[in-house]
Amino acid sequence: MSLPTESRFFHPKNIVHLCFALVFLFLTLLTWHEAMVLKRTYESNQLARLSSVANNLDNQWQHNLDELAFFHSMLEHSLGDPLITDKSTAFLQQFERVRHTPLWHLSPSETRGIPINGISDELLTRFPLFSRSDSLRLADELNAVLEMSQILQFNQPERDFHYRFWYISRAGFYLSSTLPDASSNHSLENFSGVAQRPYFVDLDPKVNPQRKILWSDPYDSMDNEGKVVTVARPVDRDGYWYGVLAMDFSTQQIKQYLQQSLSTRQEGGVMLVGHQFNLIAWSDGSQLEEYRLHKAQLAQLTEQAAGTHSGTMRFDGRFVSWVRLQYFDGMLVNVQTLREGLLGDSGRVGLVLLLTWLMFSIVVLVSHQTIIRMTGSLLNLQEKLSWRANYDGLTRLFNRTAFFDRAEKLAALNQRQRQPLSVIQLDLDHFKSVNDSWGHHAGDRVLAHAASVIGQALRKTDIAGRVGGEEFCILLPATRLDEAVLVAERIRRKLAAKELLVGKHQTLKVTASLGVSSSEEQGEYQVDNLQSVADRRLYLAKQDGRNCVRHRD
Ligand code: GH3
Ligand code: MG
Ligand code: MG
Repeated sequence: MSLPTESRFFHPKNIVHLCFALVFLFLTLLTWHEAMVLKRTYESNQLARLSSVANNLDNQWQHNLDELAFFHSMLEHSLGDPLITDKSTAFLQQFERVRHTPLWHLSPSETRGIPINGISDELLTRFPLFSRSDSLRLADELNAVLEMSQILQFNQPERDFHYRFWYISRAGFYLSSTLPDASSNHSLENFSGVAQRPYFVDLDPKVNPQRKILWSDPYDSMDNEGKVVTVARPVDRDGYWYGVLAMDFSTQQIKQYLQQSLSTRQEGGVMLVGHQFNLIAWSDGSQLEEYRLHKAQLAQLTEQAAGTHSGTMRFDGRFVSWVRLQYFDGMLVNVQTLREGLLGDSGRVGLVLLLTWLMFSIVVLVSHQTIIRMTGSLLNLQEKLSWRANYDGLTRLFNRTAFFDRAEKLAALNQRQRQPLSVIQLDLDHFKSVNDSWGHHAGDRVLAHAASVIGQALRKTDIAGRVGGEEFCILLPATRLDEAVLVAERIRRKLAAKELLVGKHQTLKVTASLGVSSSEEQGEYQVDNLQSVADRRLYLAKQDGRNCVRHRD
């Protein structure tokens, strides 16, 4: 009862598999699509929060860079057009008196101005980039710095984002906004430390011909302020490099500012990263290892972030977003762990989405299994019913109806092909007495045995059916009468030869009488006619004493 190969694909079970696979695929695609929407929402939320912190920070830096620009233009202006007053003349005289003292500091007045600190002409010769030889420029510069010191005194360090604002001159002196007690910190080591730092050395016109503003990497400050970052700008006039105007930002202060800016709770750690992937400040006090991005990862991030204003990426299951700052040479980076991501709003929705998908997948799987099982049982039942409709349960041969159906088709085919067709009719001898003597059960066994002998005698193309109680009919396509007689004879002999065990010690032999007819001699292919001829001859065989084959009337 197997289905033809071309319709295997349309087998009910395959259709059920296909439908469920489509439902599962659709469900998964839908969930995936929703997950992607959620992911984008999460990413843009993270970026929006980080951008607001970046904006705050940028505003501070913009304000400070504006201040730097203001003092820069003031200095350049004063250098070209110095304001000569009694005070400035007195100041220059004061300078002349101390310029040979190894370490000196001058207060512009008793009460006003920020002190100016310097080293002697002699010590200055140790520093190749420094020179005090041009006395005209020196006087102009001292005047300009004096003006700056007067203005700088109004600075409010407690309100400033930078913690120090300073100017160092190549003529060997400096002033600094945070150092009213500068003398205590003024030492040759400090001076030489500053003079050798990249933010000073790299502003040499030979190194920095475009006169760009430079941002330093974080470094240890000399006054126990911890790590600081410096932004430095060269001060030039008429092609001469006078010195460097700079601001220092304490990384501790940046950190505090970052923490304050994170008023809307930003999950994960927010860090400020400098232009060379240096970590400048970290919002997170605990500095958890899981937030830490190592140098190689920061390099990878910087590569990814190159040319972009903001973006997101993943590192070992952590979610990283970044926003580049406009007024600082670096970017703000947020690292969020998977756990934080999952505990957040998007994470919770994501988990619900995953659970929903899982639940629906289980429902789909269970329904699939149930329907496949039900389909299997139905197909089994259908197969059984169909078998029962066509076969005889005892002998496993075709039943009467199925036999004549098939026999008629085969006969028609034989007729079209002009092939001979033969029919054998078989009836067991004295079968009633078998039943009477040995019971119906023994009779059934005899019937099954006879059917099996018939089955073994047939070719693949022949068919046999149980057409009555103990009567069988056999159709032999493409077979002449003489060949059919040989087949009938073979069956008769085989039946007669076998002894069947019917009791503990008793055996019984059963014989059959057979009648044979053929289309050749009858000149027709009508199966029921051929069968009735064979039946008539079968009764002739009975009259001849049974256990024999008759093929003539
Ligand atoms: P004969 O040689 O003239 O054919 O004698 P017979 O006894 O075979 O003749 P008859 O046709 O009268 O007997 C047929 C018997 O077959 C009658 C019936 O009890 C028995 N029979 C029919 N179908 C079955 C069956 O399915 N099982 C069993 N055990 N017996 C059956
Ligand atoms: Mg009979
Ligand atoms: Mg009989």
